[in-house]
Amino acid sequence: MEIDLSIWHLIVLGLLALGVAYLLIWYWKKLGKRREMLAPTLYLDALKNLLSGEESLAYQKLKMVVASDSGNVDAYLRLGDILRHRNQLERAIQIHRDLLLRPDLAEGEKGLILKSLAADYLHAGDWDRAIKTLEELSGQIGHDAWSAEKLSLANEKKKNWEEAARACAKFLKLKGEKDTSYLAKFHLLAGRDWADKKEYHKARLEYKEALGLDEKLDIAHLCIGDSYQTERRTEDAIEFWKKFLAVSPQLGFLVYPKLERAYFELGKFGEITEVYSEVLQKDPKNSYALLGLARILEKRGRAGQALEQYSSILENDPGFAPARQAVARLLLEQKRPSEALRETEFLLENLAVLQERFACSRCGWTSADYFFLCATCGAFRTARLEVPSKAGTPPPD
Ligand SMILES: [Zn+2]
Repeated sequence: MEIDLSIWHLIVLGLLALGVAYLLIWYWKKLGKRREMLAPTLYLDALKNLLSGEESLAYQKLKMVVASDSGNVDAYLRLGDILRHRNQLERAIQIHRDLLLRPDLAEGEKGLILKSLAADYLHAGDWDRAIKTLEELSGQIGHDAWSAEKLSLANEKKKNWEEAARACAKFLKLKGEKDTSYLAKFHLLAGRDWADKKEYHKARLEYKEALGLDEKLDIAHLCIGDSYQTERRTEDAIEFWKKFLAVSPQLGFLVYPKLERAYFELGKFGEITEVYSEVLQKDPKNSYALLGLARILEKRGRAGQALEQYSSILENDPGFAPARQAVARLLLEQKRPSEALRETEFLLENLAVLQERFACSRCGWTSADYFFLCATCGAFRTARLEVPSKAGTPPPD
């Protein structure tokens, strides 16, 4: 009897367990249906949140959407985008890369995923992967302009100037943009790279391309002149340095010594005097042009007149170190050691304030040499000559 009772117990317990399991399955299915019904509403809500800038709310809802509907590619895409905005780049990249692996992507979805993935890489500063992804994206319909713009940017970061120029040209064309001055920069920098490799002809082709895009790009004239001078084509060099001077007289000090050397080399002393005279007609107190004229006097053996000229520059511009150096040197040559010593001591004491420097107007980085690409912030043509502070004059004897 006792044995039979145990069997009944077991049967009853078994039936109860089956009943509970059935109820659980029924409830789960019902819940699933409810969740599936809720998903589209939640998704729309999330999109509304995104539109009104409520990203945290959108994120929560999108997570619930993908939990019940893993086929919603757009929801995943937006989750990844939100993670990128939150600087969680590894997770963003993972989501977007996983999406790309799906075999059943609808038309247009691949492009959108590539765009998000490229944005992740750009945000992470992974320029190589960004470029690769953007190149793939540029083959997708509807993403031409965006991919060209970002390709130009990523290639600029990598200092791939020619590729940056190509992408930038494509972007400007697609946008119907007439102002090509921004593109000129890439050709100028590509030219500089060729010049560094001693490929001066190729360098000049790029510089001239840059000038074709932006005739006011003074530096291109300067670079062409420099490249000719390296190849000992002095006359050609002079032609372009003078063009530079015509476009940017305020930066004349960058070419005066070059022109001076070149004209002396050709035995054309008169021509450099003419260059300085022209400058002084427009700007009578231009210290650099006056300095140039004094140097010519010196080279012609008129040391006394030169000294007078240097001194008169200093009366007007006491902090102009090149004139003070020349005065010290000439005084020493004229065997006036105590005066020379006084000038030299003054120069040494005020070295820090008298030294001319170029500073980036964007980030403040300074360099003793003129630069057209800031080494710190990468800004183009932001070098400004820092006017040395007025250091006064050396004390009298
Ligand atoms: Zn800078």
